[in-house]
Amino acid sequence: IKKINKKNKFKKLNKRKDKKMKKGILYVVATPIGNLEDITYRAINILKSVDIIAAEDTRHTLKLLNHYEISKHLISYHRHNEEIKSGELIKELKEGKDIALVSDAGTPGICDPGEVVIRKCIEEKIKVVPVPGACAFVNALISSGLNTDTFLFLGFLPLNKKNRKQKLEQIKESTQTTIIYEAPHKLQSTLKDLEEFVSDRNVVLARELTKIHEEFIRGNIKEIIEKSKDVKGEMIILIEGKPEITLEEKQQEFKNMSLEEHFSFYEQQGFDKKDIIKKIAKDRGVPKNEIYMYFMN
Ligand code: SAM
Repeated sequence: IKKINKKNKFKKLNKRKDKKMKKGILYVVATPIGNLEDITYRAINILKSVDIIAAEDTRHTLKLLNHYEISKHLISYHRHNEEIKSGELIKELKEGKDIALVSDAGTPGICDPGEVVIRKCIEEKIKVVPVPGACAFVNALISSGLNTDTFLFLGFLPLNKKNRKQKLEQIKESTQTTIIYEAPHKLQSTLKDLEEFVSDRNVVLARELTKIHEEFIRGNIKEIIEKSKDVKGEMIILIEGKPEITLEEKQQEFKNMSLEEHFSFYEQQGFDKKDIIKKIAKDRGVPKNEIYMYFMN
């Protein structure tokens, strides 16, 4: 009996030690993008049960917490303190505290802080649990009427001139629906930049989603510029993809090039001579040997 008691005591001690050592969980919780009712039961329960809420703007999150009568220890975690604060959060998680990470609106990490602490959690083998909910671009896309099969989410366009032009070129060439976030005061200048690249495409402006003035403005870019001159609020710009060209159209495009132009088209992409010959033959629907002979002469 003495031996069994000793064994049980040992087991209990170990269990307590285990509990002490157990790391907390980082919950990445999506919050509403306007309408406070757009939050899941699970998200509310997690916000109630965690030890700490890490918020992009504590005053903003407080409004949501007050609405749901949740009182919790808040830590600020935003773009400018992500590095330092993520270290603090990791320390708390290692001590066994559960943390909910929230941003001002929607899903953390989507054009919002989150990435740094999540990466550190993964390095430290701390569990990261996503708690789904609202995300502005998903709702803009599903109501846009544009193709939802494949899409290109670019977040905010870069401000640097060269990088911005590269993105605009990418949008012009993309056959997928492109989605861009924009701040209200920059909307008109971004639309004007886009005009040069996508003048012939359908565009949708999704405004104030889930709020009283929710609106979808549709048309070509010229019409959108005109219709959105005096509108205010949060905006998402969606651009229809470039129409896919058929195999025949593609072959015709290549046939309009000289063989030298066709060759340098692939050369610039880094293909070697053997592959270029194969590709040219395929593009033009002619035997490989014919192209090979042309370049050998
Ligand atoms: N994390 C958020 C999400 O899940 O979509 C995005 C945050 S990002 C800093 C803010 C941008 O998202 C805004 O400039 C706007 O383009 C878009 N956005 C957020 N809420 C919106 C809403 N209710 N209606 C339209 N656009 C919104």
